[in-house]
Amino acid sequence: MADIIQLLPDHVANQIAAGEVVQRPASVVKELMENAIDAKASLVKLIIKEAGKTLIQVVDNGIGMSETDARLSFERHATSKIRQAEDLFSLNTKGFRGEALASIAAIAHVEMTTRPEQRELATQIKIEGSKVISQEVVAAPKGTSIAVKNLFYNIPARRNFLKSNQVELRHIIDEFQRVACAHPDITFNMYHNGAELFNLPISNYRQRIVGVFGAKTNEKLVPVDEDTDIVKITGFVGKPDYAKKSRGEQFFFVNNRFIKSPYLNHAINNAFDGLLKDKVHPSYFLYLTVDPKSIDINIHPTKTEIKFDDEHALYAILRSAVKHSLGQFNVAPVLDFDRDSTMDTPYSYQQKTPTTPKITVDANFNPFADTKTRSKVVPNMPYKKNDTASWESLYVGVESKSVGQPIDFSEIELESEEVTGSLFEKKKENEQGTTYQLHNKYVVSKIKSGMMIIDQNRAHQRVLYEKLLEQMTVKGGISQQLLFPLCLDFSTSDVALIQSVKENLENTGFVFSNIKQDTIEITGIPFNISESQVRLIIDQLLSDFQNEVPDVIFSQVDLMAKSIAKSTAIKTGVSLSVTEQESLVNDLFACKEPTLAPDNRPAFITISMDELERKFL
Ligand code: ADP
Ligand code: MG
Repeated sequence: MADIIQLLPDHVANQIAAGEVVQRPASVVKELMENAIDAKASLVKLIIKEAGKTLIQVVDNGIGMSETDARLSFERHATSKIRQAEDLFSLNTKGFRGEALASIAAIAHVEMTTRPEQRELATQIKIEGSKVISQEVVAAPKGTSIAVKNLFYNIPARRNFLKSNQVELRHIIDEFQRVACAHPDITFNMYHNGAELFNLPISNYRQRIVGVFGAKTNEKLVPVDEDTDIVKITGFVGKPDYAKKSRGEQFFFVNNRFIKSPYLNHAINNAFDGLLKDKVHPSYFLYLTVDPKSIDINIHPTKTEIKFDDEHALYAILRSAVKHSLGQFNVAPVLDFDRDSTMDTPYSYQQKTPTTPKITVDANFNPFADTKTRSKVVPNMPYKKNDTASWESLYVGVESKSVGQPIDFSEIELESEEVTGSLFEKKKENEQGTTYQLHNKYVVSKIKSGMMIIDQNRAHQRVLYEKLLEQMTVKGGISQQLLFPLCLDFSTSDVALIQSVKENLENTGFVFSNIKQDTIEITGIPFNISESQVRLIIDQLLSDFQNEVPDVIFSQVDLMAKSIAKSTAIKTGVSLSVTEQESLVNDLFACKEPTLAPDNRPAFITISMDELERKFL
């Protein structure tokens, strides 16, 4: 039999390797930016067109490359960063595999111009699909510029696999933010389609984080500092009040490299234990410095995972450092018996003389008063006083009962003979009482075949969802003008996301007067929500979009409608008058799909008389 094994030609090997290194435009951004940092640049400029699909360019003022190095840099396993295997254990650079440029050049059109400080002229090389097209001597500033055009031009399957510009840009911004936060000693600029997205001058960690995530971030940050033999920790955690539904702002940097570590993340969550509401995530920006010998970053090709020698100790130190900061900065009580207790007294309290706590009694409090007022003390209820009125306005046009006041059966909570008696009594008189609210969660209604139990929150979500879908796709929503414009701060990437769904939001009744880098100004809001709900709605929307980024317009509209419906629907725990209960039932059954909430869970269940009777057997 003839020999059949052959060595793969270089360009094929490079294309295969590229699959591992370059998943999407953001991977190229990461590799090029890291190379610029390894080249000791103090200025790094990222220029993007069409979310990196047509152009990704990184310009730096670093050490540059000689003519020979410029040519060699595109060879596989060509690196200036390690000489022997031992060097791997004392890495101070980001790269070492010598694969990135070779991989990128295999699947794109690359143009590199580079000049070391000592040389007068620069080298310019053009490569397409691993083939050198030209090499010239040109005049250029010190440093390196690498432009990557038409990524995946020769692998149509990969190119088609790319997500929408909105999604790819998000990934790029994520990478940019990680690199920028890790290196406040470097100036970074980012442009997308000619517009400047970030301009980050040299600064310290705090200012850099604020520059990246918006001015409002400053007040959220609680400093963390700890210096031990095995790790030095510095950075910030976000105050618990600012914790978000999305995991967006969680950053670990080890030796100035962004890493992911579910294990260390757990340590932080643990330190926040008891301080956070359900389903929110603390934000953190923590910079760990460890001996390069004590870590192994080689375990993952894209190098965001890391292995520490002494993970358990690291966990404990991190947890205690964060706990201590939260306590010291008056965010949480400190219960750490190993520490010198004077250190744990919040600074602002050290000089104060203790005061006796005052007890105030609300003389007007009557637990048997109208349940509508009482329901306002239900915890986590997002409806403030005037909000009740605002969603009640959903029901304008529903005639109130002519026969006196409707009975709110939910008012009757005592199971005494007398009350029960009057319940049946009145019900007989007043035939209109066909609904009943159970535990401020379900609306129970009599139907021909038996009874129906409606989940008030899910039902209202369905009602609002269909209304919103119609507004966004068929007719615009009615808007209420705000007296003063509402200015909300967001991170730059969140603003980019809002910008991309702006039109649909406007169809629901939002009016945006100004969208800047990290603030949005709103002058009109949908008529059925209140001003105080706006932040909640947009945060929910951002978090939903982050978890599930829809590509096509229809699913975008659908997700928005679901999200807004979720944040504005009547919550569990809200007491409803009979009129409100009935309107809800009527509205639900006017829907196209009344049986399900927008998330496909049942909106109501029915129990037939047969089933009931069987229970009594
Ligand atoms: P690695 O970074 O793993 O060494 P790369 O393929 O990313 O591999 O780069 C290959 C080599 O090219 C680097 O080791 C470095 O010597 C050189 N190089 C790449 N980018 C730059 C740059 N922006 N400035 C100077 N040298 C660079
Ligand atoms: Mg590299």
